[in-house]
This record gives sequence, structure tokens and C-alpha cells, in this order.
Amino acid sequence: MGRPPILSFLGAAGTVTGSRFLVETDGARVLVDCGLFQGLRELRQRNWGPFPVDPASIDAVVLTHAHVDHCGYLPALARDGFSGPVVCTPATAELASIVLRDAAHLQEEEAGYANARGFSKHQPALPLYTRDDAEHALDLFRPVPFGTTTDVAPGIRAELQPAGHIIGSACALVTVDGAAPRRIFFSGDVGRPSHPILVPPATPPAADVVVVESTYGDRTHEPEDVALDRMAAAIERSARQGGSVVIPSFAVDRTEVLLVALGKLVREGRIPRLPVYADSPMALAVLDVYRRALAEHDPDVRPLAGDDDPFDAAGELHELHTPEESRSLNDLGFPSIIVSASGMATGGRVLHHLARCLPDPRSTVILPGYQADGTRGRQLADGAHTVKMLGRYVPVRARVVELGAFSVHADAAELEAWLRPVPAPETAYVVHGEPRASQALAGRLGDALGWNAVVPTQGERVRVDRGA
Ligand SMILES: [Zn+2]
Repeated sequence: MGRPPILSFLGAAGTVTGSRFLVETDGARVLVDCGLFQGLRELRQRNWGPFPVDPASIDAVVLTHAHVDHCGYLPALARDGFSGPVVCTPATAELASIVLRDAAHLQEEEAGYANARGFSKHQPALPLYTRDDAEHALDLFRPVPFGTTTDVAPGIRAELQPAGHIIGSACALVTVDGAAPRRIFFSGDVGRPSHPILVPPATPPAADVVVVESTYGDRTHEPEDVALDRMAAAIERSARQGGSVVIPSFAVDRTEVLLVALGKLVREGRIPRLPVYADSPMALAVLDVYRRALAEHDPDVRPLAGDDDPFDAAGELHELHTPEESRSLNDLGFPSIIVSASGMATGGRVLHHLARCLPDPRSTVILPGYQADGTRGRQLADGAHTVKMLGRYVPVRARVVELGAFSVHADAAELEAWLRPVPAPETAYVVHGEPRASQALAGRLGDALGWNAVVPTQGERVRVDRGA
């Protein structure tokens, strides 16, 4: 008799970022997701500690999707000795090549900035990882299509199913072989069934253990038509008064969903035809991945009617690649809509647009996505009268509109409905949420489905062999 298989929660336990779950048997170690911690400083500092197990001892990584809080630590893992395969879908591999190169570039830029200003505690400041580390990690990617069972390590298999969250995103069923095989289902991040571009999340398989996300575990999104009405009203008001609209948007997927929605509002005559500036090189690179996936009918995209570009339905989309093009927006003399990263206004080109528009009462800032605690986006959503950015305090006079319905995460009711057909697992672990959200979803799965649902703590280890 060997030791029982163990599941360890190395991240995204009691918080939304740093997804890292380790499945260990006597003979193998498989890591599901390898994300960066983001948000509050005490979380970000976890990125700098040693990885809890020797990276060289990990046989494989199963990657659910290409968001940086799920894949962003891979370059460090590879640099520190991991040399196994990173198993993911083809679209995830394609997106990760954009996301990881960008993340490495940002790390190098931040270190360079800290050195130039002399405000690093370390002399000289070092990046968490470099662009070379990112290239090295990308060499390890092994794309496999949805629905294919893959041997990822001795005695451990994995199969990916569409999660409907971003393109290529997957839930992962990990099977540990043995006298009594054990099935562990990882939800990854779960999308909304109403996503305009992606098919709804696949029905989960029966499993002994379920690990489920809970980003919106304590919330219900407002109906989409209500959200679209609020968005249309806000844009119409700013356009009428001569102000602009700034939308901080995550580069991956949110920009695509927004562009589809803006096109719909123009076509239906609910907002005037305004120029739309997509100002994020990364978002534009991702947009190309989506266009390619649509053209090639990837298995997780909906068949969209017509041959028109769904992302430029109004014929007003301007794609800004260079910093000069971005700066040219400072001199716009007419109302416009600017969609720019980062999504929580923690950095990126959107800061310049916010610094210009926030003091203008005619303007509107639309927050379409999740705003983590400790971010500028959260401060704006919470009604801050002034926010610090680019070294100054900027007064907030523009109208701020939060639109949770544009989330690419299922809400509590959608998660419950998604899990309802699944036979009760022995244990469900509720992860990837602020503590109040995770506790709420665990309570809901207990009350509504009779599940044994708990919220694991950071670093907790649990047995996954059959109980007594
Ligand atoms: Zn995600």
C-alpha cells in the first residue's frame, strides 16, 4: 500500500488569484494551473517566495486557460527546474504565448522603472521572470483538443472540456489510476451560458472530488438586457454632452464581448455611431485569435450569423497598436469610446485615458469586469472621490458605471444550475473567490444540492482516496 493521493491548494484558496492545485501520488506530481497572485501587496509577495514543492519534481502541468492568474507563474516554474509538458487546448496555447510574453515584458519594465527611480528594496531590482523565461516555458506547451484523454504523468490522466469562459478555456477531469481509480474535476473558471461568442460550459462529469471556482459565489448578475440599457444610457449621455467613454477592459475576452455589445447597441439605434478605439496591443493580438477561431469554427465558438466582422459591427472600430497612436487620443475633440487595458486599472494605457477623463463630469467610465480588492478599479466602483495614478491624485467627476453582467464568470445561480445534474461528489472544494464569495457558494451547494462543500485554506492538503 502506497501513500494515499493528496490534493494541495497552493493558491486561489480564499482569494481569486494564484490558481495552483497539486495532485500527488506515490509516483507522480501534476499541477493544475500555475497562476500569478495579483491584487493586494501581501498576495503579490507570494509570487516571490520559493514554490512550495521543487518545480523539477513536477511531472506535468494541466492548464485550464490563459488568464495570467492561471498561467502567469509558468515562466518562473520552468526557470526553476520544471521541464514536463504543459497540457492545454490549442487556443489556450496560442493565447498563453501572447499573455506570458506580455507578463514577462511588464515584469522587466517594472524592474527597470524601479531601478531608474531607485525605489526598490532590492538593488538592483530584478524582474520576477524575463522574456527568455517566458519563451522557455512556451516551449513546454503540448496542445490537445477538447475531449481527448491524455496520459500526463505515470498513473495520471487528464481530459479537457469547454468551460465557456474565454476562448480555449477548459474544465479538467484528472483521473488517478489505481485499484480504485479516483476522479478529480477542476472547474477552472466557468463562463456564463449566455456568452455571445462561446458555447455554454459543458455539463461536468461525475467525479469523486470537485474543485469549483466561486468568483461570483455570493452574487447574481443583473439581467443582460438591463445591463445593456444602463450601458446605452451612460454612453448616450456622455455623447450628448460632448464627453468621452473610457472602458478599462481585460485584454482577453472582455474586449471581444464589449465590442460585440457596442456593435449591437449601434445597430439597434440605442447609441449614436461613435468611433471606438481599441487601445491595447495585447487585446488586439487576442482579437486576432478570436477572429481566427471564428473563421476556423473552433469547437467552443458559436456559429455567428453573417460574414461581417462581429467585433466591428458598426464599422467604427479603430485598432491602435503603437504608443503614438495611443497618445493621439489625448487630442480628440469629439466624443468617442476607448476600450483599453488593464481591466482593473492597475496599469497599462488605460491609466492615461482615465487621468484625462475622470476629472471631466461629461465623461463616463464603464467597469465591465471583476474588480479585485485593492485595485483602482475597485476604488472607482466603490465611489472614490479621488484616485492616485501616475504619481498624482486625480479627482473623480466622471460618472462611473459598474456592469457585472459583462463578467465572463458564471454567477452563483448559474454555478448551482451547472452543477445540479452532477451526482454529489464526496467533497466539493470551493476555491477562486474572496472568502465571503467562497463561503456563500459552499453554503449554497450544501443547502441546494446537499453537497459536502468546504472552503480550503491556502496550503491545505487533503486526501483524495476513498473515505471509510
Ligand atoms: Zn479566467
